[in-house]
Amino acid sequence: MTGYLITGAAILGGDPTDLLLQDGRVVLDPSVVERSRDDGDVEVVDATGLIALPGLVDLHTHLREPGREDAETVLTGTQAAAMGGFTAVHAMANTEPVADTAGVVEQVWRLGREGGYCDVYPVGAVTVGLAGQRLAELGAMADSAARVRVFSDDGHCVDDAVLMRRALEYVKAFDGVVAQHAQEPRLTGNAQMNEGELSGRLGLAGWPAVAEEAVIARDCLLAAHVGSRLHVCHVSTAGSVEIIRQAKASGWNVTAEVCPHHLLLTDELAATYDPIYKVNPPLRTAADTEALRAALADGTIDVVATDHAPHPLEDKDCEWAAAAFGMIGLETALSVVQETMVDPGLLTWAEVAERMSYAPARIGRVGDHGQPLEEGAPANVVLYDPSVRRVVDARESVSLSRNTPYAGMELPGRVVATFLRGTPTVLDGKLA
Ligand SMILES: [Zn+2]
Repeated sequence: MTGYLITGAAILGGDPTDLLLQDGRVVLDPSVVERSRDDGDVEVVDATGLIALPGLVDLHTHLREPGREDAETVLTGTQAAAMGGFTAVHAMANTEPVADTAGVVEQVWRLGREGGYCDVYPVGAVTVGLAGQRLAELGAMADSAARVRVFSDDGHCVDDAVLMRRALEYVKAFDGVVAQHAQEPRLTGNAQMNEGELSGRLGLAGWPAVAEEAVIARDCLLAAHVGSRLHVCHVSTAGSVEIIRQAKASGWNVTAEVCPHHLLLTDELAATYDPIYKVNPPLRTAADTEALRAALADGTIDVVATDHAPHPLEDKDCEWAAAAFGMIGLETALSVVQETMVDPGLLTWAEVAERMSYAPARIGRVGDHGQPLEEGAPANVVLYDPSVRRVVDARESVSLSRNTPYAGMELPGRVVATFLRGTPTVLDGKLA
């Protein structure tokens, strides 16, 4: 058996097509595809009714290893990624130890290669220990085997304007990007949820939209000043969208991501006091959600990124104020995007490929992923059934953690198969 013959797949939702995955590449040439069928030396995957998309790329995943292997490991996190249709993830730097040296990023990168479920691109910390005091060894991480191009103190904001400016200047040398977690710390002291009438009523400390927007505005100006690339993590407010829209209109090199949970869920859920809905940045209002959907549709927001943030039960099963921030999201991302963007007619499947594969690969400078499914392209493919609906069961997650906010909710779609360089990582909806 020398490959996989996928029959009747609708590439980007188009007409049913047969495609061959052979030697790690996509083959569409009808005569070669036909011959492979006759030779009988390929495994046939009937993809009638399924959509074929390029393997998804996540710019924002927390894999927790090293240090918190009780929450997730590189292996289990990449298995969850494969189950969600991802063939590459960027692993955030807030591990223990922090990924702020060539040694740590190479360790994470190597664990990804050994696991084999998807490619792992470590994100390097901007500052030593995420402490916001002095720059980490950005150049050494860029030159390492992991070839780091994305740098972020995610979980913390690089709030010192001088350090942020220096980081933006430094990464220009190797075409890197600084991905900012925009949170003005003085405005969010002990913040627990979106600041508004509801936070007052619930007695939970409020997290004002301006705490995010002020940092984004400053960083856009800094990026323009030094002529560098800025990426804004997990945009959550309508005001942030307006700032990014203006920055792009000015021709500045600014990109942005939105998380599936900010497209679907609102701060009303905090009224349950269930910390499963506690996330950073917090769930916002319905008006914010609507603005985020519109911005993703018109391209103001470039990508969907999961911010998959696994936590063990004891860190979430406690009172709201004591619980950890974050929710898992790799396995459900495509379903949430279908629910919020595709089914309402805001995005086509071709645009989903742009927002969840091409653009994140471009921003992360990952050449082997995010390629259109054309003749000779790397055989990173996801087969997705958009016709089914199912109730999310947290116990079915392959992540080590179970903190999904969608448990018990009905969502559309199902990843049927994922191929990494022509080898299945998921087949028939199960890990291969
Ligand atoms: Zn963050």
